[in-house]
Amino acid sequence: MKNHTVCNSGAAVQTEAEIAELCVHLRSVFQERRTSGYAWRKEQLMQLQRFLEEREEDILQALHEDFRKPQTETWFTEIHYLLTEITVALRHLRRWMKPVTVHTPLRYQPGRSYYICEPCGVVLNIAAWNYPLQLSLAPAVAAIAAGNCLVIKPSEMAPATAALLSDGLKDYLDSDAIRVVQGGAEVTASLLTHRFDHVFFTGSQQVGRLVLSAASRHLTPVTLELGGKSPCIVDKGTNIDVAARRIVWAKYINAGQTCISPDYVLVQSAIRQDLLDALQRAIDAMYGPGSRERGAYAGIISEGHVRRLQELMKGGSIVCGGGSDAQSRYVEPTILTDVSLSSPLMQEEIFGPLLPVIAYDTPEEAVAVVRSAGDPLALYIFSPQRHVYEYFMGHIHSGGVCINDLLFQAAIPALPFGGRGTSGIGRYHGRSGFETFSRLRSVHRKGTFPENALRYPPFGSLKFKL
Ligand code: NAD
Repeated sequence: MKNHTVCNSGAAVQTEAEIAELCVHLRSVFQERRTSGYAWRKEQLMQLQRFLEEREEDILQALHEDFRKPQTETWFTEIHYLLTEITVALRHLRRWMKPVTVHTPLRYQPGRSYYICEPCGVVLNIAAWNYPLQLSLAPAVAAIAAGNCLVIKPSEMAPATAALLSDGLKDYLDSDAIRVVQGGAEVTASLLTHRFDHVFFTGSQQVGRLVLSAASRHLTPVTLELGGKSPCIVDKGTNIDVAARRIVWAKYINAGQTCISPDYVLVQSAIRQDLLDALQRAIDAMYGPGSRERGAYAGIISEGHVRRLQELMKGGSIVCGGGSDAQSRYVEPTILTDVSLSSPLMQEEIFGPLLPVIAYDTPEEAVAVVRSAGDPLALYIFSPQRHVYEYFMGHIHSGGVCINDLLFQAAIPALPFGGRGTSGIGRYHGRSGFETFSRLRSVHRKGTFPENALRYPPFGSLKFKL
């Protein structure tokens, strides 16, 4: 195996044997209970906060190097996002760690019943490239808050960010307990041959299946944060200009390379043309001439990804945009109509700045389109009418929902974030992340007095009514 490193406080590690050694080392650190206490968790979270604050310039530069991510977008969607997660964890950690007392039925008293959230042990976070810092570190915040030893495997597709994490974190975090391993599929596969106590994966459905299968050999619980086709339904009663601005903002941030990006729009036929006009106006206002030169619009992660998007574009008529250049990894904000539901554009997750707009006449028709693509990660509905959005929420299952806006369901730390069915297994963010990386342990405690003689045989003719 080549082209990967395990970053630790000493020399870089290069071989499978060294990955095995790392796993043994982390387990021994965990068994010393070094990471379990409140003080260690708090210190590591504060150090992560320091890393984000002190290395801000390097982070902005690394993400720009990886795919020309605009600085403001990096600040909001990566740095600020992570700082908020850390603040929430620090604010609530003591309470999250407290035992939770539950009711003990009268017939089992006297005694106290409670459960505690204990660390899982040694956990692995495998990250995707599209939010390379956020997806490497947000699960890490939860794993640290829950008191685990941790391996972070950033995506090899964003090498500058992966290198920054690998080189930078060891100056801030306890590298005896938290390590960054760089590499691609081969390295991840090697890591997965070892026993972890939880595997957290963000990425494609295809690789998610491989991760689930590898983890099953050790009966390791897995969280899968996957993608899919998240629809945005626009009902005729809505404010079209506001809906269009919000859709354009959510679609073209990160150049559409967002797992909860609106993959396509379903619009009621009566307002189809008005919405198309409003979407074009919004694109002109936000991504008009010069936005590329000003660095206000992200690039595509690789030439291969540009070529994939160029192929997808053939599945519809281009209403606006359509320009692309593989060499400079650029695809213009694009809107398409006349899209066949059987084209790859509507069969694959787009994961780029192409927005198909499809008209529907009845809500049943819209539901049928969405259902044909599996359970989406996000469902977006624009309608002022409760019965309309309740209809769609009732008939379409999804990981999360945002009504009359987009993306915010993932930005609120107190809302559990994750998919359903084909879009994923499990949740994180805020307390739900802490619980994902914890094991609930139930305890019932009694004294040795008084004794209840009725519990012991022989029971004679006594009859219990349970
Ligand atoms: P990917 O599945 O190709 O890669 C994800 C990770 O898996 C990377 O670290 C990669 O090194 C590793 N990997 C790749 N092939 C592997 C293999 N054969 N065996 C073991 N490990 C392997 O995904 P990606 O292209 O990085 O990310 C895009 C996908 O991630 C999209 O589908 C997107 O919707 C999804 N995503 C989901 C979320 C979420 O929170 N639900 C967030 C971001 C991205």
